[in-house]
Amino acid sequence: MKVAIIGGGLTGLSAAYYMGKAFPNWDIHVLESSNRWGGKVQTKRRDGYVVEVGPDSYLARKTSMTDLVQELGLGDTLVRNATGESYIYHQGQMKPIPGGSIIGIPTEFLPFAMSSLLSWFGKLRAGLDIFKKPYPGNEDMSIDAFFRYHLGDELVNLLIEPLLSGIYGGDLKRLSLLGTFPEFRQLEQKHGNLVKGMMAMQGMRKQSGAATEGQFAQLTGGLESLVDALVEQMPKNVSLHTSTEVLEASYTDKLYTVQTQNGTDSYDRLVITTPPKAYEKFFLGDEKFEDLRHMEQSSCAIVIMSLPKSAFTKPLQGTGFVITRSTETPLTACTYISSKWPQTTPQDKVVLRVFLGKPTDSTVDTHSEEELCELALSEIRNILKFTGNPEWIEVVRLQKSMPQYEVGHKERVATLMDHAQEHYPGLALIGTPFKGVGMPDGIKQAYELVEAWKEETKEVVPMDTHTESVHAGATPMHGHTTGLEKVPETYEGWFSLHANYSINFEKWRSWSAEQQIEVLQSFKAFIGNLETAHEAHTSSYAMYQINGHKGDIMFWFLQPSLQDLNEVELTLKKLPIFSVLQPESSFVSVIEVSNYVKSPKDHPKVQARLYPKIPRLACMCFYPMAKQRNLTDNWYMLDRQSRGSMMRSHGQIGKKYEDTIKEFTTGAFGMDDWEWGITLMSDDPIQFKKIVNEMRFDEVSARFGIFGPFTIGTILDMDGIDHLFS
Ligand SMILES: Cc1cc2nc3c(=O)[nH]c(=O)nc-3n(C[C@H](O)[C@H](O)[C@H](O)COP(=O)(O)OP(=O)(O)OC[C@H]3O[C@@H](n4cnc5c(N)ncnc54)[C@H](O)[C@@H]3O)c2cc1C
Repeated sequence: MKVAIIGGGLTGLSAAYYMGKAFPNWDIHVLESSNRWGGKVQTKRRDGYVVEVGPDSYLARKTSMTDLVQELGLGDTLVRNATGESYIYHQGQMKPIPGGSIIGIPTEFLPFAMSSLLSWFGKLRAGLDIFKKPYPGNEDMSIDAFFRYHLGDELVNLLIEPLLSGIYGGDLKRLSLLGTFPEFRQLEQKHGNLVKGMMAMQGMRKQSGAATEGQFAQLTGGLESLVDALVEQMPKNVSLHTSTEVLEASYTDKLYTVQTQNGTDSYDRLVITTPPKAYEKFFLGDEKFEDLRHMEQSSCAIVIMSLPKSAFTKPLQGTGFVITRSTETPLTACTYISSKWPQTTPQDKVVLRVFLGKPTDSTVDTHSEEELCELALSEIRNILKFTGNPEWIEVVRLQKSMPQYEVGHKERVATLMDHAQEHYPGLALIGTPFKGVGMPDGIKQAYELVEAWKEETKEVVPMDTHTESVHAGATPMHGHTTGLEKVPETYEGWFSLHANYSINFEKWRSWSAEQQIEVLQSFKAFIGNLETAHEAHTSSYAMYQINGHKGDIMFWFLQPSLQDLNEVELTLKKLPIFSVLQPESSFVSVIEVSNYVKSPKDHPKVQARLYPKIPRLACMCFYPMAKQRNLTDNWYMLDRQSRGSMMRSHGQIGKKYEDTIKEFTTGAFGMDDWEWGITLMSDDPIQFKKIVNEMRFDEVSARFGIFGPFTIGTILDMDGIDHLFS
């Protein structure tokens, strides 16, 4: 298999790295037009400084980048940013961003009420969101419309607009909410309104400790050290070609023809990782690529300068500031790099990173680099009031560099991906034009592409012991389609009944000692029979003493058929003990394994999961669950690739607990009121708390998981039965 990857930025290089490792027999070529690797990522090192002239850090919660950093052995060089107050500069005044706000949205009352940034009217208007309903309709909307609806004009103008437009470098009136920050829509819909949703999220972050850490991560060697590591550790079957611009790419006779200044070559598969504009040269004549070719891109310039600390009459507060749109200056923000990333700068210096490029202002495109430096210096001097001149100054002008996800972006991307999947087999479109503009987004797309290709080309792979949900629905494949997808195939094993009873102790105590002994004897004989079958592995069972008011004793029966299950239940009901057992809850289902790795049903690992011998671990936690099916978040309307990738990250959490938790999934579609039952077992109950808590932060649970009541208990044996009824 011969593959070309166009673009040698972080996305293209990580795709090449993962692909080279996954397919050692493939012949992979990375074609990069410039004479260096890394695309927008560029670090300059000089005289004790580490200066990022492109992106300066990444959002640490997006783990794809951290995973790659760790894999390449750079984990020790990871650093989080120093946290500190950030400021808003508005019409000549520097005001702190109210504490507890997340990208300007208030999540705590007091710091917001005390803030001098907003008028009382503005605060009141934002606070009224508590009484607002979700933004009407299910269509995509602009970021601007959504936040104005919830929080009012003042908060949007003074906080949200300067903070958010910095990330996309764009006009919030045109940017798509669902394409950029769909999580706000989800929070709003889940909690009734935005502020409540954000408060709940902030509460969770605080509980998890996430709120106390810096949100961004860097590498002590600079971001380009990741690029260097990728190039150095690139698998042998990947060949790297700089100064190789792709002048044309087309698809005919099941091959991709790629033309560069060095000649024309043919490939079986093609991966494109370039910015949108490059598509002007690809698949000419195919008008389905037109939206992509004409995708708006914003420009910005970054001017970086170093000054001696002595140039400032008083120390700089915080780590930087953003500037409101109505403030008269072409600047949009300034980061104090020496405060945010102290390791990058000699101690006696202050390094400022000044941003220019307001959405409707053409300064970046019309000014030369020298003019941009002069302008940035005079404007920032005016704001920060320092004396003297910078010891050095760098400028990077990024013209038309940031794709704008305008309203309707998601649909346009889905349409294009459908088209590509149908007409261009083996073509992958990844990178900033599609699913996120940050570095981790590109790496994630690269990783997921290779995982999908691995699945597509895989024959038979043994199942491993991920959590249930990994198997549920995880059938990734190449490409991205929307609409209803093929149902993931499942294998079914033993039928299952979780039956939870409370014990009428009053009635029990009213019986004589002889009566009690007799009742217990017949009960124990029943258990004895179950135990014999369990030992013979013709069925299985377990009993638990339940904590709390939800019940006292829970049985878990696994039987070969529904009739067998009926028999066991009936036998129990006919026992004298049953007159003191009060049914509290039950859950009928069947052990389920999703065949996402195409293993045959008779594979030993599959068999072990379908017909388990329930382990006698000390503690059990059971809960029913389902997947969200509302208009904006419908698990069953997602394409396989999205489901597959979410499940994989979910599964990675499950894998972490493999040694301490045994997990069983039973499917209950058409059998009970929920879709699945999850039974966890461990000798250490704290592990339940940890895994459930950790999984809540995982997208598949956070967005799509609906959970029923949790029941927890400890294993019961014969002695335990005696104790319970003593
Ligand atoms: C000003 C700015 C600040 C940013 N700050 C951050 C930040 O702090 N954190 C963050 O996570 N992200 C940030 N980003 C986004 C980040 O830079 C990108 O997500 C990331 O660099 C994209 O990597 P990529 O490989 O997808 O694309 P690129 O880095 O754009 O790489 C694409 C490559 O394709 C090559 N190419 C183009 N056309 C052709 C062709 N015809 N033939 C061959 N090669 C071609 C280009 O030369 C380039 O090397 C920022 C972006 C900008 C513009």
